[in-house]
Amino acid sequence: MKSRVVLLHCPTYDLTTVQSTLQRGIDLLGGLSTLFRKGEKILLKPNLLYGQSPQRCVTTHPVVFEGIIRILQDYGVVLSFGDSPGYGKLSAVARKAGLHQIAEQYHVSLADFESAHWHEIELGSNTIRIPLSSGSLEADGIVSLPKMKTHGLTRITGAVKNQLGCVPGFHKAEFHVRFPNTESFASLLVKINLLLKPRLYIMDGIMAMEGEGPGSGDPVQMECLLLSQDPVALDATFCKLIDLDPLFVPTIPAGERLGLGTAQEDKIELLGDPLEKLKRSSFNVKRNPPVKDVTFRALHPFRNLVLPQPRIDPERCKRCGICVEACPVPGKALAFANRKTNHPVYVYKRCIRCFCCHEMCPHKAIYIYTPWLGRQVIQFLGGGHTLSEKGRISPESESANVSASGR
Ligand code: SF4
Ligand code: SF4
Repeated sequence: MKSRVVLLHCPTYDLTTVQSTLQRGIDLLGGLSTLFRKGEKILLKPNLLYGQSPQRCVTTHPVVFEGIIRILQDYGVVLSFGDSPGYGKLSAVARKAGLHQIAEQYHVSLADFESAHWHEIELGSNTIRIPLSSGSLEADGIVSLPKMKTHGLTRITGAVKNQLGCVPGFHKAEFHVRFPNTESFASLLVKINLLLKPRLYIMDGIMAMEGEGPGSGDPVQMECLLLSQDPVALDATFCKLIDLDPLFVPTIPAGERLGLGTAQEDKIELLGDPLEKLKRSSFNVKRNPPVKDVTFRALHPFRNLVLPQPRIDPERCKRCGICVEACPVPGKALAFANRKTNHPVYVYKRCIRCFCCHEMCPHKAIYIYTPWLGRQVIQFLGGGHTLSEKGRISPESESANVSASGR
């Protein structure tokens, strides 16, 4: 049987429009009764990377959250919601993102995303233990609500990656140290989905984030909602919308390989509105292939000459220290020499290129820079550039960063 993906035009965050569009999407997938039973406990899992206003497009929009709450409560399921933000307490982050107020209004409880249960999973030839939040395990089912965004490491952050938030707190960062390469990290994300088995994925793509996502990019109108039970097929459809090779998103080949879903066009039934009308080929996303694990290891001795690296724009840095806190490397790969006067400084030889610092900076002060030699390698491998790699940052700020980091 084919995986079904519903793509629907939705030009506005008007509640009535969003709710009726969501209802149409669910009907196209077979209706509520094929997905849920009355009285079940369902967890809503939005993307709450950190506390930001909905206009910044860092988090799932509150109107999409409200629309699905109304539909599911009318049907008779019991709802909770939760996520494990990159930093900040869940309730405070959800309030800033506008979700907490909606949850209070509809009596949707806050799930426990602090305590965890440990599970064993097979990853390659290893058995590893991973913690999953009690809130995600106690529910009868999960509705995942990813935001349509770019990502420095995985090209896009979509349906598959949204479940990383079911791993509580600092364990998420710890995974970057344990699985520093994109392929192994992608396999881990797929395994988390296979364990949690969300019933339904709904991607908020009415306003998306392009460029330096998932935290520092720019809002862009995509005017769509995507629904599917297959997160790999949903992410592959997102790729099609932005003209990105799905094979460059590490969770997609990993998801196919490990049996989570499919990205093959002949195995996907696309329902709803015509994709060509909603397609946006100018969407600013990294279009080069990710560095393969084997290449990453081979390049490691020359990493500062070749591999993409995070850099700080001194003009934008507010010296808040969130990037330092977010760095998962023991002993940290960036630190303040003098916080009163200067931005943090990278120690690139320690940096594992997880880009958590870039992801978490709330002031758009960290960007990903690919050295000249790295750009030649990318060209050789057949990739393109993001707009930022073509030079969003001025030469002045580049040289300021180089001198500050003592490289
Ligand atoms: S780079 Fe960003 S996160 Fe780091 S100290 Fe500056 S503003 Fe804060
Ligand atoms: S400095 Fe940034 S990219 Fe490097 S390891 Fe730390 S968080 Fe990851």
